[in-house]
Amino acid sequence: MRQESGSFIASQGFDGFAIGGSLGRSKEEMYQVLEWTVPHLPQDKPRHLLGIGEIEDIFEVVKCGIDLFDCVAPTRMARTGTLFVKGTERFRIHILNARFKDDPGPIDEDCHCHTCCNYSRAYLRHLFAAKEPSAIRLATIHNLHFLESLMRQIRTAIRENRLEALKREWEI
Ligand SMILES: [Zn+2]
Repeated sequence: MRQESGSFIASQGFDGFAIGGSLGRSKEEMYQVLEWTVPHLPQDKPRHLLGIGEIEDIFEVVKCGIDLFDCVAPTRMARTGTLFVKGTERFRIHILNARFKDDPGPIDEDCHCHTCCNYSRAYLRHLFAAKEPSAIRLATIHNLHFLESLMRQIRTAIRENRLEALKREWEI
């Protein structure tokens, strides 16, 4: 049915195509759904996969031919003080952790977002602890910038034929 749907939708001449609905009960099943679906969609039109926001998943589904994503994860995580950081366990830290109390560094050394350029981990932790609404905004700016930056790196790596090298650099 996925193949039939992909072929039919592709024949309708849309500007882009989204893949959603049930994506299976595991990552393996999701890759199977993509294997069934993506080959039936035009290669020159953007292909969107609904609900993907984890770093590891992004690398995998890009390899399957997906161009666009949407997911609540980066903003939902930001609201609870969970921030994307390259080179950490599962690519995230929790800013309310006591070890950041006096940390003068940015959330992520390599990030050039407004938050990382202007605020320390210690200050952001203080804002979250004090329940200042600005904490959520600053954390959201970082998480969204982080993912946009990742996608920019992925697009460049694809053009330069070094996606696998980038994946290794991210330790995935
Ligand atoms: Zn940042």
